[in-house]
Amino acid sequence: MHKGFPKVFSADSFHVTFLKFNCMKRIFYFLFAGFVLSSAPARAQETDADVIKKISNNILTRGTAYENLRVLCKEVGPRLSGSAGAALAVKETFRMMQAMGADTVYLQEVMVPHWVRGEKEICDLQLGNGKTYPLSVCALGNTEGTGKAGIKAGIVEVKNFEELAALGTAAVRGKIVFFNHPMDPTFIRTFEAYGEAGQYRSRGPAMAAKYGAVGAIVRSLASNIDDFPHTGNTAYNDSFPKIPAVAVSTLDAEYLSAALKKQPGAQVYMRTTSTMLPDALSHNVVGEIRGTEFPDEIITVGGHLDSWDLAEGAHDDGAGCVQSMEIIRVLKELGMRPKRTIRVVMFMNEENGLRGGRKYAEIAKTENKKFIFALESDAGGFTPRAFAFSEGGATLDRLRRWASLFEPYGISAFTCPGGGADIGPLRPLGTVLCGLQPDSQRYFDHHHAANDVFEAVSNRELELGAINMAALVYLVSKYGL
Ligand SMILES: [Zn+2]
Repeated sequence: MHKGFPKVFSADSFHVTFLKFNCMKRIFYFLFAGFVLSSAPARAQETDADVIKKISNNILTRGTAYENLRVLCKEVGPRLSGSAGAALAVKETFRMMQAMGADTVYLQEVMVPHWVRGEKEICDLQLGNGKTYPLSVCALGNTEGTGKAGIKAGIVEVKNFEELAALGTAAVRGKIVFFNHPMDPTFIRTFEAYGEAGQYRSRGPAMAAKYGAVGAIVRSLASNIDDFPHTGNTAYNDSFPKIPAVAVSTLDAEYLSAALKKQPGAQVYMRTTSTMLPDALSHNVVGEIRGTEFPDEIITVGGHLDSWDLAEGAHDDGAGCVQSMEIIRVLKELGMRPKRTIRVVMFMNEENGLRGGRKYAEIAKTENKKFIFALESDAGGFTPRAFAFSEGGATLDRLRRWASLFEPYGISAFTCPGGGADIGPLRPLGTVLCGLQPDSQRYFDHHHAANDVFEAVSNRELELGAINMAALVYLVSKYGL
């Protein structure tokens, strides 16, 4: 029950008394702590749980991941390979890792594809009564445009490749193929739905071209119905023409499908001016803390620095970059020297080429070092849930002995299989790979779309990911694998 302050205290005198009390409390704690430290013959051995708690407290109170993410998103902005943004991101992350006190920070040169989107895309559904409905679209990554004049053609809708093959050349030639394959909502882990539906974005345009189509419209890979078109990589097949292709928002995919049922002969006017320029010089950025006992055993940890051009790349993959760099900061600030070498890598060009990941492994092969472990964060800056490893069996059993150390910080499972796109090329070197798996329910609301912005990332969730990553890297650096 609240009784109010005694009458003898004015608000001010209470305040002064309270401050005095607080001050005395601090002096007492100070003396008490001094007594404990000096009276104990040797400080009790710090357990791994203690160290991880220290890492966690430091990141939660003094972390810089969120601020660094702000810089990447708001000051650098979109970072597609070959763009000025990508070059600036290289400079900024180099500076960040130097400021964190990495023993060395260096660049790895890599030639990257240089694709440009060109002018704002147009994709108008002709409704027949002289009216048009502008579909919300964006050109798919690495595709060639329609040319300035654009194209006008009828549309055939298919749900999958089987339906496309059944229609065959007779029905498809000269048309625009509309791949309307939703991400399957029954998958609980949304990456599984992405894996299954993703083939229509990556191979759909090439398959449509095989049957003589002049263009492709692909339903966005998004978990929900919204009006953002989600871009992503498309691969042509050299045997067929490179036809223009766009992603359409899920909302407009639904609209288009309904419109085509009423008006099967409807046409679309499509105009895109995207194109592939000659390869450009770019870089991976590597920050290193050398190991004290086994400097030639390398632990790689990273995310990809490039992003699609129409967003800030906050979840994909600014989050993974700043979480990885945070490991350098926290180890340096806590004065922890790892036994094995830790390399934090900002991989370039994951989105539309994977050249950075391949280059890193190519150089690794020549280094005469042991690349024992690689950890990647490229699944969003959401609350961490699991670590997924490339190895099962005895390796996973050994790793699982650490699992209980992670439970207080949100990681509830060590699973297999796992890994990541950028660290994948290290596998032939015998590297054990691991991917951080955050909660995936909201990832495909933002993935490769204009709403993948800084504001979509929670500071707390981002930091929790960094804590778990730093803890795992700490354990591997201490015990090896
Ligand atoms: Zn990514």
